[in-house]
Amino acid sequence: MGLKVVKFGGSSLADAGQLKKVRDIVMSDGDRRFVVPSAPGKRFPEDIKITDSLYKANALALEGRDISPVFDRIEERFLDIAARLGLSVDVKKHLDKVRADIVAGAGAQYAASRGEYLNGLLLADYLGFEFVDPAGMILFDENGRFLSEKTNDAVASLLMDKKNAVIPGFYGSYPDGSIRTFSRGGSDITGAIVARGLNADLYENWTDVSGFLVADPRIVDSPAPIKTISYMELRELSYMGATVLHEDAIFPVSRANIPINIRNTNRPDDDGTMIVSRKPAADGTNPVTGIAGKKGFTVITISKAMMNAEVGLARRMLSALEKYEVCFEHMPTGIDTISLVVADNQIEGKKEKIIAEIMEQCRPDTIEIVEDLALIATVGHGMVSTRGTASRVFDALARENINIRMIDQGSSELNIIIGVDNENFREAVRAIYREFFLG
Ligand code: ADP
Ligand code: ASP
Ligand code: MG
Repeated sequence: MGLKVVKFGGSSLADAGQLKKVRDIVMSDGDRRFVVPSAPGKRFPEDIKITDSLYKANALALEGRDISPVFDRIEERFLDIAARLGLSVDVKKHLDKVRADIVAGAGAQYAASRGEYLNGLLLADYLGFEFVDPAGMILFDENGRFLSEKTNDAVASLLMDKKNAVIPGFYGSYPDGSIRTFSRGGSDITGAIVARGLNADLYENWTDVSGFLVADPRIVDSPAPIKTISYMELRELSYMGATVLHEDAIFPVSRANIPINIRNTNRPDDDGTMIVSRKPAADGTNPVTGIAGKKGFTVITISKAMMNAEVGLARRMLSALEKYEVCFEHMPTGIDTISLVVADNQIEGKKEKIIAEIMEQCRPDTIEIVEDLALIATVGHGMVSTRGTASRVFDALARENINIRMIDQGSSELNIIIGVDNENFREAVRAIYREFFLG
């Protein structure tokens, strides 16, 4: 017997029919004792996620407007699920309280968290499991920083002796008890925290695709699922836009060496993807595990003669970012050049000031700004031992006449990152995909 923590995403819980599938999955394996639900997601492509509606209701309340046009739709969805499944929990009473709290100004984080909270109440009733509110064990400090060790202790002591439980995803609490949410997609993190606290044997993450795919299915046609991937590879890919698992979800489980299994609620017999600390040695056929990317970056490059001999230049360049509280993604360097790659949303409204600060701090010969760039990461442990992977990436792009604007190869040789114009993004992903995964 093992212990499994199972997280279900929004599309897996979008309506009563989906909850039935979830119950079948949970009940078919006695090890699946702790269940972490998201809020109901989209039932069809144009549908609105409950979480988005809750943010909207809160925004209306803030403006002093009537929230009913939005909140009534939320209420209908929860009541419909409860009625169709014949649940006994008084969900209307809970909905009335949430509505009143939002109107009274409870705030965005509280409002957003109620999707998971209400769905948790429904699912606990449906499964016959105990409901445990994460506000009492997923803990943040007054500045909103996650307290991992305190949380781990609290999760262990609150859950360890329970036979089973449903724990809503996405939120915990500040020291004063008010609600703090993770960033979007954060129920994945809750599942990982619960798995670590209980020292589970497996963290199953159930979604709407049959595993972590070698590329984004919205860009390439029917990419194959990855059978096994390491935590490090996954972190690179999820950070670079493969949104199937929140990029921070691996930290709690990788510490405890708990594997994650990504599974498809709509195809429960598929094996999905196993995420483990160390992959079996590559079989030598494909050095690349997966490809991911996203748009919206700017590259700032300074050049200066004899830069290699100038002490402290890189630090001064970075201090300009620090002054304006901007994180950077990559920092490729040449002998007389340094480039900084930053996400557009980081430097919005600050670009001119940052450039002026770099000019003053570094006095470069030239400074060049390249905007509207997309970054694509080609990731795989196998690249270390396989010569020529980078040139295959470059050749694949050259064949499609796609201009490479930036190259950065991580020192771990786990990834090659290239920058292309935003408008070439999808074609570039497809070209790299064809090179390594087709033919
Ligand atoms: P959930 O609601 O279950 O948390 P998400 O929408 O967060 O699900 O993540 C699943 C989605 O991630 C898929 O439907 C797919 O469109 C998208 N996705 C992007 N890149 C990948 C990838 N490499 N592999 C699988 N899915 C991906
Ligand atoms: N419901 C939240 C969101 O939409 C959290 C999650 O689904 O993981 O972002
Ligand atoms: Mg998700």
